[in-house]
Formats: sequence, structure tokens, C-alpha cells
Amino acid sequence: MKIEELLILVKPDGVKKFLTGNILTKLSESNMIIIGSKVVKVSEKLAQAHYYHLRDKPFFNELVDYIQGKVYGDSWNMVLAFVYQGDDAISKMRRIVGATNPEEAESVSIRGSYGRITTKGLYENVVHCSSNVSEAMREIKLWFKPEEIIKNIYATKTIIVDKEKKIIWA
Ligand code: UDP
Ligand code: MG
Repeated sequence: MKIEELLILVKPDGVKKFLTGNILTKLSESNMIIIGSKVVKVSEKLAQAHYYHLRDKPFFNELVDYIQGKVYGDSWNMVLAFVYQGDDAISKMRRIVGATNPEEAESVSIRGSYGRITTKGLYENVVHCSSNVSEAMREIKLWFKPEEIIKNIYATKTIIVDKEKKIIWA
């Protein structure tokens, strides 16, 4: 057994097309469990950090706008984020998700079924899926706090935070 974790995002195009249910149904074929989930409004800082490895690509700025849903207007700045766990999770999920380029992705895969290439050439491929163990760890730590995941998957430490500004229910 090779238990792995990975980050899945339903990107803003997937949210806007109301594909979340279909995507989760497809992903459930993997028999993986969800150990963290939330809806996130994506800041520019988070978008840039998530795609840091592509910062030198000519499409980087467009990609940062895309993950924030900017092309669809402010009301679509949201992604659904999931941490999945299971045996050989990453390669199994990548197979279900399909190739990066939706035209090259298998037609039964999520990206092959629902993705498109924009007139500018960007791949709007409806989901993000971590591609290896170290990338998964970096991404999960970027998107989730330890208390938002129901299992202890990475080492944590306890700190005392004083005078932290927090919004609570009035
Ligand atoms: N992307 C693109 N054109 C490319 C390569 C990537 O538009 O030539 C976009 C696409 O949305 C992709 C994301 O950038 O999902 C991240 O690229 P990566 O190479 O990490 O592919 P992934 O891991 O998402 O398959
Ligand atoms: Mg990638």
C-alpha cells in the first residue's frame, strides 16, 4: 500500500458550469476518501503561490486571473478545494482527471469531457490535481490549515498567538 494525499480544485470554470457534482461523481470512482473540503475565494497572492512553478511561462498572468475566475466576473471568484487520501492516490486521480491539454485528454476523463482551450490558448480544464507527492504537500499546506483536515497527515507544531485579529460572529 502506498497511501498518498493530494489536492483537487474545482476551478472557477467548473464551478460556473455547475460541474461540481459531475466531477465529484467521477472522482469517486477512485474509492479515495475526502479528508478536507471547503469553498475558497482566491486571492491574487494565493493564485500566484499556487502556480509559482509556472511563473516564467508566457501565460502565467492569464493563469493567475483564471484561477481567480476573473474572466467570468467577480461573482465567480471561487474554487472548491478537496484533500483526498488513498492508495496510490495521485496517479489514480491524474488518470481520472486526464491530460493537462483538454484536447489531448482521454474523452472519458474529466478534462476530456468538460475542458476547452480559450481563443487565447489557455487550457480551461475545470480541475486541478496535484501531480506528485512533494507538490501535493506544498499545495495542501498552502490551501489548508492543519485543523481543516480531519487526519494528521503532516507534522504540526503548537504556537501561542497573541493579539491576533479575527472575525467572529457578532
Ligand atoms: N496551462 C495552460 N497551458 C499550458 C500548460 C498549462 O493553459 O501549456 C494551464 C492549465 O490550466 C494547467 C495549469 O496551467 O492545468 C497548470 O499547468 P501544469 O503544467 O501544472 O498542468 P496540470 O498539473 O494542471 O495538469
Ligand atoms: Mg501541475
